[in-house]
Amino acid sequence: MIPNFDQLALNEFSKILEKPLKIVITTHFKPDGDALGSSIGLACYLKKNGHNITIVTPSEFPDFLSWMNGSSTVIDFLKNPTEAKLAFKEAELICCLDFNDSKRVEGMESLLLKSSGKKMLLDHHLDPKEFCDFTFSFPQIGSTAELVYHLIAALNGEHLLDRDASEALYAGIMTDTGSFRFSSVSSDTHRVISSLIDLGARNYFVHEKIYDTNSESRLRFLGNCLLNNMQVFKEFNTVVFTAKKEDMIRFEHESGDLEGVVNYGLGIRNITMAVLFSERDHLVKISFRSKGDLSVKNIAEKYFEGGGHKNAAGGRSSLSLDETVAKFVTLLPIITKI
Ligand code: 5GP
Ligand code: MN
Repeated sequence: MIPNFDQLALNEFSKILEKPLKIVITTHFKPDGDALGSSIGLACYLKKNGHNITIVTPSEFPDFLSWMNGSSTVIDFLKNPTEAKLAFKEAELICCLDFNDSKRVEGMESLLLKSSGKKMLLDHHLDPKEFCDFTFSFPQIGSTAELVYHLIAALNGEHLLDRDASEALYAGIMTDTGSFRFSSVSSDTHRVISSLIDLGARNYFVHEKIYDTNSESRLRFLGNCLLNNMQVFKEFNTVVFTAKKEDMIRFEHESGDLEGVVNYGLGIRNITMAVLFSERDHLVKISFRSKGDLSVKNIAEKYFEGGGHKNAAGGRSSLSLDETVAKFVTLLPIITKI
């Protein structure tokens, strides 16, 4: 599927880009492969068109993405709030990638909303909120990185993407589609991938950088999760994982270590929902995944202060880890009825 950009909006947007601008590219809290990959891909295109680009993230990205060329210049708002504030203050255009609600930039929300710069949103989450001058929202597309490619193509600029940008976009598409396996993947997704390879992306390199760079302790942490902290509720086709703080300390947990753990649950026969509850400071972070018609987005929104996509969503709880899991288990008979 190819996103159908509103031609009038696209024309207006490309007009704005005719003169060199100070541009901030930003994305959601706890940036993932798609958030960072799409930001770096778009930054390359805009830089080559003479713009001055600053990528600002609301929090740090995981270590396993630091191979992306351009990631070292990203400003982390939590670490460098002064630089982040200045970038937003000076920005003439702000590109909001991979989120649908200004709340998703957490502590940066007022910087974003108060900035006098024009705002453009490019995203694939359902129900975008109206906080931008341009809203390019395509929930049926599997990743924002795929959308970045299509946006650049619609602006006739694919040839400007270099190897680094192509690999960043490849990584975004790969990570948000479970390595090209989700139902959101279309033949057009593969055509984009094919173009990215033609532009220099090394598919084997990206796969290795993302999947084959585990620390020993990360794999042991995963093993511990699967062996000791996984509950299967067969009656409700649901798997629950818990990640306790004490285990995170024991296994030298680093940012990003829990990425992908929840997906193992869906690998069990007949399981249609998997949920990971991880204990953080003063809150429990929840990752939901599902298959088919069961909408974890609705569950996250209704009961756990979150949201996301139908089959992949996140939420939080201020109850303790045990209380949060107990609340979820009590809800199972209701929420698994479609
Ligand atoms: P993850 O489990 O990987 O943290 O998140 C899964 C998906 O849900 C991602 O697309 C992420 O952007 C989205 N998501 C996670 N947490 C939230 C949240 O609190 N609100 C909304 N709207 N989306 C979320
Ligand atoms: Mn995404």
